Amino acid sequence: MAKFDNSFTDELRQRLSLVDVISRRVPLTKKGQNYWGCCPFHNEKTPSFSVNEEKGFYHCFGCGEHGDIISFTMKSENIDFKDAIKELADMAGLKMPEYKKKSAAQIENEENYIKITERATQIYQDLLYSDIGQHALLYIRNRGFDDEMIKKYRIGYAPKNNVISSKFNDVKRDKLTSTGLVRIGDYGPYDFFRDKLMFPIFNAHGQIVAFSGRSLDGSEPKYINTTDTELFHKRQTIFGFNFARDSIHRANRSIVVEGQIDAIQMQVHGFGETVAPLGTALTEDHIAILCKSNRNITFCFDGDNAGQKAAIRACTLFLPFLRDTSDVRFAFVTGGKDPDEILKNSGESAMRKIIDNATPLIDFLWESVNKNYLVNTPGGRAQAEKYLKDCTSKITDKIFQNEIEQEFNQRKFNQWHKWKQQKHIKTVEVPDIDTMTINLIKSIVQTYPELAEKYTDFFVSLNISFDGDVQKTELSLKEAEKFVVSFKLQRYIKFLNDEKLQLLSNIPENAGDDYRNKLKEIDENIIKANEKLELLLDMNK
Ligand SMILES: [Zn+2]
Repeated sequence: MAKFDNSFTDELRQRLSLVDVISRRVPLTKKGQNYWGCCPFHNEKTPSFSVNEEKGFYHCFGCGEHGDIISFTMKSENIDFKDAIKELADMAGLKMPEYKKKSAAQIENEENYIKITERATQIYQDLLYSDIGQHALLYIRNRGFDDEMIKKYRIGYAPKNNVISSKFNDVKRDKLTSTGLVRIGDYGPYDFFRDKLMFPIFNAHGQIVAFSGRSLDGSEPKYINTTDTELFHKRQTIFGFNFARDSIHRANRSIVVEGQIDAIQMQVHGFGETVAPLGTALTEDHIAILCKSNRNITFCFDGDNAGQKAAIRACTLFLPFLRDTSDVRFAFVTGGKDPDEILKNSGESAMRKIIDNATPLIDFLWESVNKNYLVNTPGGRAQAEKYLKDCTSKITDKIFQNEIEQEFNQRKFNQWHKWKQQKHIKTVEVPDIDTMTINLIKSIVQTYPELAEKYTDFFVSLNISFDGDVQKTELSLKEAEKFVVSFKLQRYIKFLNDEKLQLLSNIPENAGDDYRNKLKEIDENIIKANEKLELLLDMNK
């Protein structure tokens, strides 16, 4: 059996929904906390195959089959572990990790590559302090870099002429081009980076695999990076990560800023845990890499529109990685400045204030929804609601997802429906339940676990203790369910009536359509619930 890194199989489990994967073969319906369907491993007509999305396993009460997303794929398709992983990786859009041993030729190639980039870095470093590098050195010093920083991050200067392609005569041309430093044009080889301030890009082992060059004459784009090579994949590389890794562990968080200079300045000025994506857009891979250390990230963006947009993107990308223990925040540097300028002009404490006051992800999401949709109109609220739903659906931990949905529901209720803000409306109190009813409910829960599961939410909402043994009920399953449903309806009607009374006894001064619509809605719901109840009681006769 091929050996796979646990972190890869974990990532598959985390990226893929077990219910989605199983649903491709078996239709599932949600009942209570679990999903149910007919077992694909034995012949049956009534479902006894249950899937627990949250815990990530399935269990068949008929034949005893049991397992997780990987064993399901293996068994249901009759394939081996490796093929199952391959198929799931495809589904998750993940690349299979390479575990085969590198060939001697490959190792030699990689060593040559690193030798070239290392030698090029030294040339660039020397040139920065030479006559032709003066303007580059001036620029980087003006950005607040002293010699020590320049040395640590191995910043250099790539001149206007072809230095690499002319100086590396002893290196085979294809080896040179494989590093992305040299390209072949109509007139022969030429340097990719010319008249650029050079920032080496290190891999996790501290080896230089690529470069990021900043333009010095104001020309756009500001930065160009080595295009992807054998050893460098832009989407999977985070600038500054090799320097930040230890601090990320120690600080138990990472800070993500927009620019490379910002990242270096932050690292040097007390925020060693800071990194930056290469170029502008953050990718899922970047987040996945950071999440391997921990899931606490403070994203720091410019306060302008572009920064807001980037923050929303980061937020959306992070949602599938969000756990109930994650601390994810969004900080904004306002006034057209970036962290580099804040540090230079106002110092570390000003920057720390910005980071410390960062908005938690949930609040950020709520605030941006309120900013981006017209939540004072029904249409705008509907759009906002759809957007929020779309966001929360990305959270893979179902219990946590449910909590966040409830949190948003509460905010919608409290903040969007203005009439609710009137202080005179008290929260509706749930009427007490008599002991006999409590005991009946307890015995139904004990006798019929299927009902307990089906109506879990309702039983929990009753706020009664289910501890202690009670006698089993003599009611049949059907009768018991009818009792539960009718009791549920009665409680609901009582709740609606109370709510209506509260509304009527405290008509807000600015009562408008919202208020009238709410009353109308309650009345309609009362009628509907009464109809249902009557129908149910009729059936009892
Ligand atoms: Zn089965």
